[in-house]
Amino acid sequence: MTALMSNYARKDVAFTRGVGVWLWAENGDKYLDALAGIAVCGLGHAHPKIIHTISQQAETLLHTSNIYRIASQERLGWRLCQISRMDRVFFANSGAEANEAAIKLARLHGHRQGLDRPAIIVCENSFHGRTMATLSATDGGQAQTGFEPLVEGFIRVPFNDSDAVAQLCRSNRQVAAIMVEPVQGEGGIQIADQGYLQALRAICDRHDVLLMLDEVQSGNGRTGKWFACQHEGVIPDVLTTAKGLGNGVPIGACLASGKAAELFVAGAHGSTFGGNPLACATALSVLAAIEQEDLLENASVMGRLLLESLQHKLAHHALVKNIRGCGLMLGITLSQPCAQIVDIALQQKLLLNVTANNVIRLLPPLIVNEEHIEQIVDITADCIELFHRQTQSAL
Ligand code: PLP
Repeated sequence: MTALMSNYARKDVAFTRGVGVWLWAENGDKYLDALAGIAVCGLGHAHPKIIHTISQQAETLLHTSNIYRIASQERLGWRLCQISRMDRVFFANSGAEANEAAIKLARLHGHRQGLDRPAIIVCENSFHGRTMATLSATDGGQAQTGFEPLVEGFIRVPFNDSDAVAQLCRSNRQVAAIMVEPVQGEGGIQIADQGYLQALRAICDRHDVLLMLDEVQSGNGRTGKWFACQHEGVIPDVLTTAKGLGNGVPIGACLASGKAAELFVAGAHGSTFGGNPLACATALSVLAAIEQEDLLENASVMGRLLLESLQHKLAHHALVKNIRGCGLMLGITLSQPCAQIVDIALQQKLLLNVTANNVIRLLPPLIVNEEHIEQIVDITADCIELFHRQTQSAL
């Protein structure tokens, strides 16, 4: 019997401590963490600078509310705008909340243009969160089932199809924004084709539609750039992020540039906790550590090594259909549903995850080194082989 609601299908393991890429379970077993709390703990566990910042902030001041100025929020705002080349930011506590803010900006933008029912173009296979608006923006499945009526105003097109977006912008005068993940994480590590984001930028400029990029998972160094859109040199109108920004301390951010940055007026949006001194001091420390420890470069180099090693070892495996990656966001598509691989990997003391039914997802911390990569590759390959044998013997 548990007092917890049943909304998570949890694994029967509880971790009590972590250091770097390692986690220890209650029984003392040691695990290699190739998931980083779902792209959250980019600096790994118990990073000395983060420990120091959190302890110091706890001794000084945790929370005051947004009724007053918050110096660390102002500093974090500047730093985030600097690395993203955006103009202004609203701080929330999660990815879904950052996206809620983005959706509200899109509606304000649409109404300002005189649209009476502003719509947002979203993609097939997308994931934007679990609040009512963000689950409505998410592509179907369990996130939506049972929660109807959904929030209206989302129009879905295939991912990586800029022609579909252009056509909609021409034919539907209610389009106010498009919201896209540069790398679809929950959707199975689907990566934007080269030129896709640039094409979207051009379409949005032509039709005065906001380009809103959801970098909740792909941001904060995960793909080897501060933000994945920087691989294409694209500056969106709205950029959301969360996960890796706080390394485990909850924080979300909705950044905006140009006219989108001026849409919220006092009272239009808010959050009790959003951008409090603890979260902002931690995020400032996270960004500083990423820079000081050269982790963008490390994510890029280690990501390439992980991708090439997996391809070398697994490309010809009977079950493996495709292996792809962008920095340290990698997906291995198998030819059949493979949720059991998570349990097999747990037995092998490796944390990974399966998404979109048949995609093994690897999101190791940005601090991984060559030795960790070698272990991740070897254990992942063993897990696929074990799974293969199990499914064959079951036939
Ligand atoms: N957007 C993307 C791209 C995500 O991957 C996620 C979470 O996985 C979210 C939004 C929702 O973030 P949160 O769980 O912090 O609300």
